[in-house]
Amino acid sequence: MNSSNSQKRRHKSNPGSQQTEPLNAKIEVEPNTHNPDLLWETLKQLHPVYRIGWSYAATQPPDSLRFVCISDTHAAIESGRIKFANKIPNGDILLHAGDFTMAGMPCEITSFNSFMAHLPHRIKVVTAGNHEVTFDEFGGGGTHPTLERLQLGLPQTASHKEVAQGCKELLHDVLYLEDEVIEICGIKIYGTPWVPRFGTSGFSCSRGLPLLEIWDKIPTDTDILLTHSPPLGYGDTTKSDKHVGCAELLNTVTKRVKPKFHVYGHIHNGYGVFSNGKTTFINASVCNDQYRPVHEPVVFDFPLPPGYCRGDFMKLSLETLQEQRLLSGSFMKTRKKETAFNMTKIEKVINGIDAQTASD
Ligand code: MN
Ligand code: MN
Repeated sequence: MNSSNSQKRRHKSNPGSQQTEPLNAKIEVEPNTHNPDLLWETLKQLHPVYRIGWSYAATQPPDSLRFVCISDTHAAIESGRIKFANKIPNGDILLHAGDFTMAGMPCEITSFNSFMAHLPHRIKVVTAGNHEVTFDEFGGGGTHPTLERLQLGLPQTASHKEVAQGCKELLHDVLYLEDEVIEICGIKIYGTPWVPRFGTSGFSCSRGLPLLEIWDKIPTDTDILLTHSPPLGYGDTTKSDKHVGCAELLNTVTKRVKPKFHVYGHIHNGYGVFSNGKTTFINASVCNDQYRPVHEPVVFDFPLPPGYCRGDFMKLSLETLQEQRLLSGSFMKTRKKETAFNMTKIEKVINGIDAQTASD
């Protein structure tokens, strides 16, 4: 997909420009937000959904960065590494919108990090999903607290926060975003793992004001938004055809942030590419409802903003970007860490985990 963000930049920087929504529109909670399927019956009058067939040029346009989007791989692509790695098109930046594990176990994280490290994309940007329960420092849905601490080499008395930090340190070959922004050659990417609450899972939050307060942190000048949750109405239907996306995320994206691209996953059945005429919505779930990795990655090319060229990107390193995040003060330092795992025991535990009834 091709895009041009220069118009948007002018649009946002010119207070006199014509637009239907005011700049920095304040988003209000939808009264029926707790019943998204019913709410969509009303909101769909205001939000056109165009399903678009996506394709990309074999030759990347000059002065652009090629993004490759995946989500919800659920530890299903690492085991057949060569097979699935060949299905991931080459590109500059790989985006992963969360649920890369089944249960956030340190052994799964290490395996995922290793898989990502071997892919050719220069930079990989990742947020978490509700399955990464161990990443939730509030202990949103930890399933095997004893084993998690054992694998991390932490005492059993370690807090959820210490476990979360230990798990995130295992992702040392990617850029992990949790409610934070990274700027790559002038392109701003914001990542957040939160989803509307259901059952016991990580990063779950009540619909309405609690979730809106999380979305309110998304900067208005975000170019590419990476969330785990879909917005309401765009690739958010379950296999029983119910809309379960977040209305406050939809309003935040369409009325305030208006990113060029919104990439997410979580609802595997909603895989596909959509547009409302302004933002391209990409549900990049690789796994289907049976947790089999059957959906193709989605690719788009993003033109570099004025003043940047591909040479700038080729000079960027993961370390440089991680330093940028350290300077922003919102990111803890990652470090190389090797942990000796008892794989037999771990595989037994993971295989024993019940998949959640919803394929999320
Ligand atoms: Mn999910
Ligand atoms: Mn999932």
